[in-house]
Parts: sequence; structure tokens; C-alpha cells
Amino acid sequence: MSTTKLDSDAYTLADFLESDSQDLFEKTESFTAFLDDWKSKGTYSYHRLITSASSGRAMLRDPETGRDREMAVMSSNNYLGLNTRREVVEAAVAAVHKYGTGMCGSRFLSGTYDLVEELERELAEFERLEAAMVFTSGYQANVGALSALLRPKDVAFIDRLSHASIVDGCRLAGCACRTFKHNDMDDLERVLANSEGKHRAKLIVSEGVFSMDGDMAPLPDIVEIARRRQARVMVDEAHATGVIGPNGRGAVEHFGLDGEVDIVLGTFSKTLSATGGFIAASRAVVNYVRHYGRSYMFSASPTPAVIAAVLAGLRIVKREPQLRERLWSNVRYFHRELKRLGFEVFPDPPESAIVTIVVGADTAVRALSKRVYEEGLFISTVAYPAVPRNEGKLRLSLSANHTREQLDRAVETLGLIGGECGILGGGAHESPSYSAVAVG
Ligand code: PMP
Repeated sequence: MSTTKLDSDAYTLADFLESDSQDLFEKTESFTAFLDDWKSKGTYSYHRLITSASSGRAMLRDPETGRDREMAVMSSNNYLGLNTRREVVEAAVAAVHKYGTGMCGSRFLSGTYDLVEELERELAEFERLEAAMVFTSGYQANVGALSALLRPKDVAFIDRLSHASIVDGCRLAGCACRTFKHNDMDDLERVLANSEGKHRAKLIVSEGVFSMDGDMAPLPDIVEIARRRQARVMVDEAHATGVIGPNGRGAVEHFGLDGEVDIVLGTFSKTLSATGGFIAASRAVVNYVRHYGRSYMFSASPTPAVIAAVLAGLRIVKREPQLRERLWSNVRYFHRELKRLGFEVFPDPPESAIVTIVVGADTAVRALSKRVYEEGLFISTVAYPAVPRNEGKLRLSLSANHTREQLDRAVETLGLIGGECGILGGGAHESPSYSAVAVG
């Protein structure tokens, strides 16, 4: 039991990674004191309790009153609103009736339902690559593919803002891992040149759309550099699939790079509104990862309901470009309205369905998250250690399911709170106007 009291405003999550204690659990006690104080201040914005379907709006249980309240949801990556589409839900239900609830083992040893192979065929065709393989999560897809392909003598070049699953995949591989400045091609060239002759095979990994900020990578440059330096290229399209490109095939399609990228990775946890992930690549690469990718081999397959929902969702993505058009119309409208109010919005112009508002001071982010929630908006706040100190932001994900009224109301609410917290016109720098809110 934690007995100490800690003022949570004086700490961040990064402060509890290490402890001088001989007792392994000491840090968990001091962290719990921090967490309890943080929650008591009402500024803890993670692990919200949702008691209904979440698609544009949802019922959330208030931790203080215990009552359910309807909120506008802008924290979900449900970009095309597929998670409540009748066709998707019915496909999942039908699969449970036919196959039961779970696979009860890894595909390697316990077998694969035909539905999974059907999905893999459609994914390969969609990505215009020879083969595809499904993992139980997008995280496992990155970890499995990278750790299967890279060895200690090899080297991976990754963007400094890469998703944790890319970083962890390289760690598990035990390969050399060199980071380059975010989307900075001169720095990539520099890092590649410095590594010349020191390693064996090279892989450049980038996200098509970066998960925190929603900006796109300069993929044509990455592909050109890779070709010149004899490196392979892998692109994580987690936030781009279904959102970008005339057919929703992501940043690779947007830049006309079909066939130029060696491995395309995707997740089912965003547009495809389930859980799981996949890679698409040559038949040889997929064959290899199936037999050396530990996160695939030693983990159970996604459930039949998930596979059926993803298949149904993928067919909608291909068949209904109008959903993507509606999403983009929402993104452009919302972005314009935020700018009109004086917010510093990134990226500008928008490059995906993720829009971020620059906040700045870490303490401002916590206070903002509380006020935003009080006003009925469920949005993600991003602070240190997820981003550098005092570079906190609000991260909003738009959906084709958002109505104009919801967007207008969200803009109005953000304008009100932005004014109170002093973040209109470029972020808070521990300003007096902000402190009033932080304390009050
Ligand atoms: N890659 C990127 C770029 C992501 O943003 C995410 C999830 N946020 C993942 C991989 C992991 O996907 P999943 O949530 O399906 O495990």
C-alpha cells in the first residue's frame, strides 16, 4: 500500500522509471502515490471508461460522479466510422456463429481458418504486392517483421519519431539502429554515409503518416535514397490506410510508389476498426517472416470475428471512396475553423485525419485535458515523455462519422478553453493566464 503523498504536478511518468531501492517494487509504490494524486486533481486523461459503442460519439462513465455522459469522441482512429457499420458488425457475428470465438492456438501449430487466408489474399491484392500475412496486432506486425529480418550485423535507419513498435522491433532484432531527424532527408543521408562500411544489410523504416502529428513522410526521397544506397524500404501505413490515396492505399499510393516499397505494414486498429496488423511484401519475404517472426509464431491468431470484420471493412474501403471524401471534407473544415480561432495547428495544411493543436507547457496539457473533458470532448492529450518536455499538444482524430454540428460544437468548446488557457496564437509557455486555470 502506498502511504506517501506526492504532488503530481511536480512529476511526470518519466520520473518513475528508475529507483535506488533494492526492492523491485519500491518504484511502483511511489508511482502509485503520484498516480493517486494526479487522479484526485481530475487531470488524468488516460484509460477513460466507455459504456457504449464509440463512433463519433460515445457514453463515458465519469470517474467522480459514476454517471454516464454522452461525449463527442475525437480520440479514436475510427477514420471511416466502420466499427458500427451494420455490414461489418453482421460479418463479425456470422463468423462467430460459424467458427466460434477463438482460434485457441498459434496458426503455426493449431491451424488457420480459411477466412484468414482469404483476408491475406485480399490484402496482398489491395497493396499490389505478392503476398500478405496477418498478425494479432499492428505492434506485433512491426516487432515480428523487423526482428525476423534484421540480424546483429545489419542496420535499421528509423525516423526519430518512429512508433514504439518500430523501435522495439529493432531492439528485439539486436541490429544496429540509427535514427535520423524527423522527415529530414539531409540527416538520413548523413546517417547513411556515416554507417557506410560498418554494417551488412540496410533497411530504412518510415511511417507513411506519423502517428503523433499526422504529417506524411517524404517517401519519394526515401525510396530514391534507399535505391542509391542499396537499402531496403519498409513503410508503416497504420494511419494512412483507408485515409490517403485515391483508393485508400495510403502514402505509398499517394506518391505513386506502387512496387517501389519492399514492405508495407498496416494495422486493423484504425480505419479497419478491429485489432490486428499485417505486412505485405514479396512471397519470399512473407514466407520467411512466417517462419522466423516470433510475435507471429508464438502468439494466437486474431479471432474469427476480427478477421471477418476486417474483410468486410476492407471491401467497404475499396468500394466506397465517398467515405474518404466525407472524412477529408471534415478534416479540411475542422482545420480551417481551428485556424480561424487562432490556434496553431499542425500539420498545416492537413496531411491526414490527425490534427494537432500546439499547447506547449506540460502543466498546460494536463489542465487542458481536464477542461476539455468537462466540456464534453473526449480527445487525446500528448505530453512528456511521449514528446519532448514542454512540447505538449492536443491530438485530434477526425472521422467520416463526425457531423458538422459535432465539429462546430468541438470548435466552439476548444475556442472557449483555448482562450481560458492562453493557447490561442501559438501555445502556452507557463503564462499567467494559464496558471489561473492550472490552479483553479
Ligand atoms: N504503427 C503505428 C504507426 C501506430 O500508430 C500503431 C498504433 N498506434 C501501431 C503501429 C501499432 O498498431 P496496433 O495498435 O494495431 O497494435
